[in-house]
Amino acid sequence: MSTFKAPKGTYDLLPPDSATYLAVREAIAAPLRGSGYGYIETPGFESVELFARGVGESTDIVTKEMYAFETKGGDRLALRPEGTASVLRAALEANLHKAGNLPVKLWYSGSYYRYERPQKGRYRHFSQVGAEAIGAEDPALDAELIILADQAYRSLGLLNFRILLNSLGDKECRPVYREALQTFLRGLDLDEDTLRRAEINPLRVLDDKRESVQKQLGDAPLLRDYLCDACKAYHEEVRELVTAAGVVFEDDPKLVRGLDYYTRTTFEFVHDGLGSQSAVGGGGRYDGLSEMIGGPALPSVGWALGVDRTVLALEAEGVELELPATTSVFAVPLGDEARRVLFAKVTEMRKNGVAADFAYGGKGLKAAMKAANRSGARYALILGERDIEQGVVQLKDLESGEQTAVGMNEIVAELKSRLG
Ligand code: ATP
Ligand code: MG
Repeated sequence: MSTFKAPKGTYDLLPPDSATYLAVREAIAAPLRGSGYGYIETPGFESVELFARGVGESTDIVTKEMYAFETKGGDRLALRPEGTASVLRAALEANLHKAGNLPVKLWYSGSYYRYERPQKGRYRHFSQVGAEAIGAEDPALDAELIILADQAYRSLGLLNFRILLNSLGDKECRPVYREALQTFLRGLDLDEDTLRRAEINPLRVLDDKRESVQKQLGDAPLLRDYLCDACKAYHEEVRELVTAAGVVFEDDPKLVRGLDYYTRTTFEFVHDGLGSQSAVGGGGRYDGLSEMIGGPALPSVGWALGVDRTVLALEAEGVELELPATTSVFAVPLGDEARRVLFAKVTEMRKNGVAADFAYGGKGLKAAMKAANRSGARYALILGERDIEQGVVQLKDLESGEQTAVGMNEIVAELKSRLG
């Protein structure tokens, strides 16, 4: 062990477990790639102001959880706590919305940083795969994203997750509800911080995780009863499209989520095997965000799924992903001459698309065969002095134990055909 440890609230991804993380990212991305979403990558940090405006001044993310700092040049930056504001900033900066092809559909995958109290499923560095569909107001787009997330989780073999769905209304109807909620909250027995929050952003009080707060919210007015006709019709259409796709969801009239910028459709994916960190992903429509960060009106919808919690959900359900061994052939040279010849063969195999590894470090036969077995390779290639003289190499099937001599010049073609 060195003097150093991973910082508090972080952990390292190491083989073999890291392969599961890669597979989860891949499984979430696959349905997006197949549905017209293009890959976007943005910097790991942005101007603090982007998140303050884009995520919301009164959110926990901005007030408590952001890694903000000043650079030597005097710029105020923050490690990105979430993806949407950055993606929209990048799309606007590149004028993607002016290319005449709306919605702009983008997906991303990366690291996010929040200064939170670390616990299982809650880290200071975590990983998300997300999707944003920018510049269209169409219930089918909201439905598409919900369906694609469902498809991603199902493709991983997850079953015990639920989709919670709500509508947050729009600038017509939400203010009316906001007032009604505020009036209700002012009559409750709440601490000072929460009362202040009720004045700035009363909807967020509904998201308070504390039991003492939750038990007072039983009679809170529901947004559902305040939706304007347009929002009601929109929400009904989303619900019908999702239902028609065979995707099951639950209406959750209290679902508000932690970010300020959501309008209309809001959803969360929760997994029942994760204890209190039960949200594996969430998203919704954010029709006002573009204008909040200085862009034109661009109604948009998106989600972000947490990779770390998705991996925990797989563990909770006892799902083991079938991950094919990365190495197909493991080469074992016996002696210096064999090492040179076989190393050249390994290079040739790799160039021909055969995943191969090599017994490095001058191991003896026994240790080298152990390494071959550990690698997960299907075949071992063993080369001794006598084989060199005869122009052959020993091909051992590590599953059946069967061993045959194959001509040095034929071995690559032989392996390619055996491995299909
Ligand atoms: P929570 O209510 O659990 O704090 P959130 O509403 O802050 O979640 P989002 O901002 O919607 O989460 O992020 C989407 C997903 O990213 C979450 O559903 C979760 O899976 C994951 N996520 C968010 N914060 C963390 C974290 N600190 N550690 C690990 N995963 C996280
Ligand atoms: Mg949070």
